[in-house]
Amino acid sequence: MGESYLKTLFLHPPSYEGFDGGAGSRYQARREIRSFWYPTWLAQPAALVRGSKLLDAPPDGLTLDSILPLARQYELAVLHTSTPSFQYDVKVAEALKAENPRLRIGFVGAHVAVAPEDTLLASPSIDFVARNEFDFTIQEVAQDRPLSRILGLSYRDRDRIHHTPDRPMLEDMDALPFVTEVYQRDLTIEHYFIGYLLHPYLSLYTGRGCRSKCTFCLWPQTVGGHRYRTRSPESIEEEIRLATRCFPQVKEYFFDDDTFTDDLPRAEAVARRMGKLGVTWSCNAKANVPYESLKVMKDNGLRLLLVGYESGNQKILNHIKKGVILDVARQFTKDAKRLGIKIHGTFILGLPKETRETIEETIRFACELDPDTLQVSIAAPYPGTAMYREALAQGWLDGRGLVNADGVQVSALSYPQLPHTEIFDSVESFYRRFYFRPRKIFSLAGEMARHPHIMKRRLREGAEFLRFLSRRQEAGR
Ligand code: SF4
Repeated sequence: MGESYLKTLFLHPPSYEGFDGGAGSRYQARREIRSFWYPTWLAQPAALVRGSKLLDAPPDGLTLDSILPLARQYELAVLHTSTPSFQYDVKVAEALKAENPRLRIGFVGAHVAVAPEDTLLASPSIDFVARNEFDFTIQEVAQDRPLSRILGLSYRDRDRIHHTPDRPMLEDMDALPFVTEVYQRDLTIEHYFIGYLLHPYLSLYTGRGCRSKCTFCLWPQTVGGHRYRTRSPESIEEEIRLATRCFPQVKEYFFDDDTFTDDLPRAEAVARRMGKLGVTWSCNAKANVPYESLKVMKDNGLRLLLVGYESGNQKILNHIKKGVILDVARQFTKDAKRLGIKIHGTFILGLPKETRETIEETIRFACELDPDTLQVSIAAPYPGTAMYREALAQGWLDGRGLVNADGVQVSALSYPQLPHTEIFDSVESFYRRFYFRPRKIFSLAGEMARHPHIMKRRLREGAEFLRFLSRRQEAGR
């Protein structure tokens, strides 16, 4: 293609220190231990815009002052934002615009996709919002095409705001170029940590969208939709082959599709290709994958599954439309363990219908399942989700944000039967009761003894984790 492009900067702006809320984070918050997802949603359009640059400020420890001079070197800046960081991201946009008034600035991400008008009204420094799946929308903006002819765009023209028609969902996922080349060009992959993944890891999507309709879940209800659109196994094999050449130091690949196991025959086909390549990999899964499929995946290099169990109460699971039966989740967990697949389980406290008793049930359920590691999140009513609409209608929101001044999650939801302070406090008791069991302590100590190289990392993470708990306690007072 001989097309020319505006000089384009893709930016995940600086906001809270250590904020894992970039263009690949489903729960945007500062976490218990150092944690960063890859900015894959920005890397995809960056791969479509020749000569562009992707800058991921939080993992690289970049401040506003350090990125400001860049404003004069670019013609277009695309900022990925989120609900918790939006107010900071607007300030960054304003500072960039003040530095270079000719810089065209666009916002992308689920938060602005559902409220493009409000976003543009938030600051005159924001020139446009690329809604929904914005890869090709951004490519066309970077080609300097007239904005009025670009689908999926909301933009300002003098004092008026215009919205062009939606861009059809991307069906041919193989049309997206590989993100690996952008990672190699612009990122320091050693800066990306996820506590339960080997380090360094590398993550990418092999498909978008999720068939489930969980009412709290952000991406499928905003940008990705409920059809699982997938790349071909051939293209995935080709990209992983490339990644192994670009990054021989990578210890684990993570397929960060919403639910990689949504299409089991395809998941097995991809697994067989990974087996051929001899790589170690992990993925997101629902707690209902049958033993036979788990076996195929395990036999072909699967190391770990990231599983959203969410709650130990069936009524809550039904209410949030999780589509999982507790006994099926139990069987799945037994099967995975029998095969030697590690599990990182994620749980959410403060979902609609939560009570003290259901929190107790969830903690007991987690201890019974005994995943290798777990994460406890607080229910986050993101605008654009059914849970947000339910919370608004029921009066469960009383004006608190999703995170505190340090970027740590707080409960925006408060119920007559369960105040937000109890939801916040119960996260800590959940962690303590799960991790400070003799059985867990022995198993973590055993892992460190068997793998001395893991010991240093686990000790650092353990110290970070305890610091996090004590900071939370202070914030909660
Ligand atoms: S199964 Fe997972 S990814 Fe899919 S909608 Fe539910 S929480 Fe979201």
